[in-house]
Amino acid sequence: MKDLSRRTMLKLGTAGFAGSALPVLASANETACKASDGLCNAAVCIRAHQLLSLVCVLGGAQCPLIEAGRARELLRRLGSDPTTAIRLMSPADEVPHYTKLVQTERAAPDTQEVLNRKRDLDVLQRLGLAPGDTRRARYLYELLFRRIETLKGLCAYDTPGWEGCALAKSGAYERVRAKGWNAIVYLRSDQEREQYRRRNVQRIEKTTRLFVRPHHLMCLSCWYAGGKNKAPRPNDTLFEIWQRIRREPDVPITLVEGTCIACDCCDGFHPPNGRCVHPCGLIRDYKKDLDVLQRLGLMPGATMKARELFALLFQRIRSTREICAYGDGIERSEEWRICGGPDGNPGYAATRQTGIFNGVH
Ligand code: SF4
Ligand code: SF4
Repeated sequence: MKDLSRRTMLKLGTAGFAGSALPVLASANETACKASDGLCNAAVCIRAHQLLSLVCVLGGAQCPLIEAGRARELLRRLGSDPTTAIRLMSPADEVPHYTKLVQTERAAPDTQEVLNRKRDLDVLQRLGLAPGDTRRARYLYELLFRRIETLKGLCAYDTPGWEGCALAKSGAYERVRAKGWNAIVYLRSDQEREQYRRRNVQRIEKTTRLFVRPHHLMCLSCWYAGGKNKAPRPNDTLFEIWQRIRREPDVPITLVEGTCIACDCCDGFHPPNGRCVHPCGLIRDYKKDLDVLQRLGLMPGATMKARELFALLFQRIRSTREICAYGDGIERSEEWRICGGPDGNPGYAATRQTGIFNGVH
């Protein structure tokens, strides 16, 4: 363990890292909910337009829409924890009915606040979100930088009376955006990932049982593609799991919800709390796990020999369309993107034909 980064070890304490001493999952009562770091418990609440403010501040502009100390604190947090759940606020639908406004408020609105309400809604509209929505920091900034290239027409306009912020043309936002989302949100170093990979590979080789999230059995099958692929994968250790179960088809596999023994080296895995910050890890992979468990008639914690588990999987699930394309192949939102295509991943179909133990006796 001594080769893990000092930063990570400080956060882990003496015992905690993936697969060994992650926090016990909270039960569904209210008290436990408040202690959870899930998406229903935002760690940070900001106005939607302040997502932009943080970028400008990082780019050297003194954004007038956020207090400098608050911006520094938020940037520090995002720069160390990509799993931070951010709730995006907007009071646009709380504007009082016109009969509740006094004459002066109707005649002379707070123009700055009018602009801010529009900025909030512009940001939310581009992200495909609504007021009150909560997403993890990395998810938000990846999407923000993909969808908002410039602040012209968002923080500032040519329309008289709607000039907005002079800093919108300073290039501060664009400069940070050009560096990528990881200029603002923490990304694990390659070195740390490699350290985790080495340790993880040893664990997979020696452990008496493998802890795997159910839909990763399917991902392994997609990748193997009936024997087409047999090389390590950069972002997970499914290849090493495949090697172990080929060598030892009766090795027990225990099914777990959420990140698993395959995840340690992934750039989306955050060791201090074991969360996944890839877009797929936002929420849809959790549904895939539960869908697979339901189809198999198993519950989290179920343990089976690898050979028997894959036999059950291929018997009960014929195509990734049933799980990863939600059965109907309809992609309803960014959060529920389909992996492997609406008609199913051909790699899974191929492995289902050959099995993953072909050649093993
Ligand atoms: S353009 Fe101006 S108002 Fe908009 S985020 Fe940047 S500094 Fe803030
Ligand atoms: S299609 Fe589904 S099972 Fe296959 S790689 Fe994608 S997420 Fe994994």
